[in-house]
Formats: sequence, structure tokens, C-alpha cells
Amino acid sequence: MNHTTHNFDAYAFSKQADYDEAATRGAFSQAVPLKTVVVYCFDPRAVGIPAAVAKELGDVFPGDIVTDEAGNKAASTATVFEVVVAGGRAVDALRSVTVAQHLFGIENVVIVHHSHCGATSFTADGIIDAYRNEHEVDISDLYPRDSICIGDYVSSLEHDTRLMRESLGTPRHVNVFGYFYDIDSEQLTKVVEDRAEPAVESIASK
Ligand SMILES: [Zn+2]
Repeated sequence: MNHTTHNFDAYAFSKQADYDEAATRGAFSQAVPLKTVVVYCFDPRAVGIPAAVAKELGDVFPGDIVTDEAGNKAASTATVFEVVVAGGRAVDALRSVTVAQHLFGIENVVIVHHSHCGATSFTADGIIDAYRNEHEVDISDLYPRDSICIGDYVSSLEHDTRLMRESLGTPRHVNVFGYFYDIDSEQLTKVVEDRAEPAVESIASK
């Protein structure tokens, strides 16, 4: 493996002389109006999903890039961030949701699985066997088995919204939705709506 030496410290927030973690986080949440994380498939035919979700929930996507006085890209008006992964499976999005909440705060996580998805074309056994034969490795314990492919859309959306809800990195105030997207009609169909728990009324407020 070849490496050349570079110094990218000027581009890292944590490497600045006046770096203050809490202040940096506060500035991020002020600059970025994020509300909704959308998890969907890397299939190019699914590219319309974030705009469709934005329309459904009253969000802004793709929005505009905001530049500072020096002309540097400083923020954006988008209220939707995308997590684009094979099949739109939630297992690959858990850490991104945690980071999105930490830096910007979120209100919704929307998981979308789409029609004619490649993830419905193979089985867990099929991909595990193929890797054994073609690459001589055993991936049977590499990923949770029920997150590898999509056997049934309702089951996969129910599974993934539950996985997202039960993740400790998903705050309880967040709404979790599961949608099916038809890539030809570009229509969303809601399959799961898991609204956040109502805020607990504090004794002090009574
Ligand atoms: Zn797909």
C-alpha cells in the first residue's frame, strides 16, 4: 500500500487552535436546519425518494447551499439529510442517525424501500454461498441475517422501523416512518407510522 504525506489539519474543526467542542456543536445546530433523515437504496432509479419524502412531510430538499462572507460553503437550507445504502436497510443507517441527532437534532427518521429493488433478488443463503464460492470467505456472521436482503416489503419495513426505534442512538422524541416507493409512479405509500412518545408532563409544571 502506498501513502503520500499530506497535512489536512486546516480543514478539521478539532485541529483549530481555538477549538471548543461544545461551542462547535452549538454553531452546527444553529447553522443546519435538519429535521428529517431519509434512509433509502443506492439504486439510481430511487433518486427521487428524498424529494418525495420532503413533499410528504413538508421538508426542504435539496435546498440551497449557504456561503459565508469569504465565499466558503458554510451551510445549507435543506431540512432532509440522506443515508443511501443497499436496499435502504436501517442496519446501515443507525450510526448516521446518532450523529445527525448529536450535531443538528432531528425530528423524523424515514425508511424507504422501493419497488423492483435488487435486494429482493437474492437470499441471505444465496449471498453467503456465493461469497464462499467466489471469494473463499465466510460472511455468515458479518451482518444480522434479517438485514441482508428484502424478502417481503412489509416485513422489511416493519423490521427496520423497529430496529431504528429500538436503537439507543434514536432519541425518544423522534418519529419513525416506513414507506414503500414505486419507482415508476414515484408514489410513496406509508406502511409504518411510529410517532414519538408524547412528552412526559413534569410534576413541576402542574
Ligand atoms: Zn434497491
